[in-house]
Amino acid sequence: MQTRLFIGGEFVDSRAGTTFPVFNPHDGSTIAEVAEAREADVDRAVAAARRAFPGWRRMAAAERGRLLLKLADRIEAEGESLARLETQDTGHPLRDSRTLDVPRTAATFRYFGGMADKLQGSVVPVEPGFLNYVLREPLGVVGQIVPWNFPLMFTSWKMGPALAAGNTVVLKPAEITPLSTLRIAALMAEVGFPPGVVNVVPGYGAVAGQRLAEHPDVDKIAFTGSTATGRRIVQASAGNLKRVQLELGGKGANIVFDDADLDAAVNGAAFAIFHNQGQACIAGSRLLLQQGIAERFIEQFLALARSIRVGDPTDPATEMGPLTSKHHQERVLAYCSVAQEQGGEILLGGSIPDAPALARGCYVLPTVVRARPADRVCREEVFGPFVTVTTLRDEAEAVAIANGTEYGLGGGLWTRDLSRGHRVAAAIRSGMVWVNSYKRVNPGSPFGGVGQSGYGREMGFEAMHDYTDAKSVWVNVDAKLPPWYPR
Ligand code: NAD
Repeated sequence: MQTRLFIGGEFVDSRAGTTFPVFNPHDGSTIAEVAEAREADVDRAVAAARRAFPGWRRMAAAERGRLLLKLADRIEAEGESLARLETQDTGHPLRDSRTLDVPRTAATFRYFGGMADKLQGSVVPVEPGFLNYVLREPLGVVGQIVPWNFPLMFTSWKMGPALAAGNTVVLKPAEITPLSTLRIAALMAEVGFPPGVVNVVPGYGAVAGQRLAEHPDVDKIAFTGSTATGRRIVQASAGNLKRVQLELGGKGANIVFDDADLDAAVNGAAFAIFHNQGQACIAGSRLLLQQGIAERFIEQFLALARSIRVGDPTDPATEMGPLTSKHHQERVLAYCSVAQEQGGEILLGGSIPDAPALARGCYVLPTVVRARPADRVCREEVFGPFVTVTTLRDEAEAVAIANGTEYGLGGGLWTRDLSRGHRVAAAIRSGMVWVNSYKRVNPGSPFGGVGQSGYGREMGFEAMHDYTDAKSVWVNVDAKLPPWYPR
């Protein structure tokens, strides 16, 4: 297990020699003491990335891609141990780590490995006598800060496009889940990434994260996390006007119309909120049910939620594990009280499991709350296995409620009416919409939000563009220049 900073191609101690503990959320035991990056360590990592940049950018794009493809293969070969490490650190059920986290991580590195030599410039049809072409150039050193809910997967989402486009990277994982990212760094060294192209600096947000965001020699900061921290990142970035990309919170509406396939909608809605213990920015955390179907839907949904197997995430039969930290468990449970104080009715859950074996873990049972759109639990991101249900009359009301939050990340709707599917998808103000499904992601499809959910896009060509600048080159081929200053 790697527990030290990865700087300039080596695992090293922090300058100050300080460490922080990483806990297993299933039982509260300490998994590791990890070196804590502070300002001086971030500076060292940025300097290493800066030194590596000219060589990395000059390397043939296909060669950069080949390294990413080798990494994807290596991740697959290590799949089982990576899945176990991710489960130990985050509490993701092993079956999810095996079937979602690891394969999606490999798929994302592979996609961007293939993309590296597909990013092309263009030629602009300008006035005769001139050739104008546009190059896509890497930005330089990119700082990346990720949260704890999908640490392995987000490492690939962040590093894949940045590296494919020719940038070098300093990534700060979340302080509670740094282990899988450090493992990826080790695999990168093994497959031959040159020293300094990737650097990993585990540490606290207010120290290491803050330094990375304000660093004068970082050209872009790509951040995934809460909206409140996103604002701090923007402020910190102002010193050198670095480029900023923000993937922030969400409060996804999941609308079920009367004509929906009820079984499919119930199943999809459960995945939308309970997968990953609800710790997903795109979670379908607000169920909006048209009144003709609402009570039947709730009955079936509660039955399904009650049947979810909550327990030790290393048990392959477990469907929901613990939340990722004690602090977060307390926060989610506090929202159950908030819901009740505002007149919400807890239809299911709202508490921790009875089983003594789970008492030391960060567990919260699947929770379903009947609430009104203006209630805090319908407006604020809870980020747990906590879903609100609200009944509505018609399509217009559905769209108004769906759009009634400051967020705009993901949203979904269930209907058999094709026209309505497209109409409502167009009307929902968000970066992603799913029709008769929820939470689909693919490395080729742009991912990101509007409003307080942030700006910029991950994945696909959009991400590659976000990690490059356009350079416009004008060549006088045979134009006669007008005599500006006739003598
Ligand atoms: P957070 O904002 O507290 O932390 C995220 C990261 O930022 C961590 O690495 C943390 O150390 C760092 N950080 C904290 N303070 C910082 C500072 N002052 N300067 C620089 N870095 C700092 O968020 P969290 O609670 O760890 O994560 C959950 C949040 O992430 C939720 O709001 C969720 O919606 C959001 N999220 C968004 C997406 C998306 O793609 N839009 C995906 C997953 C999670």
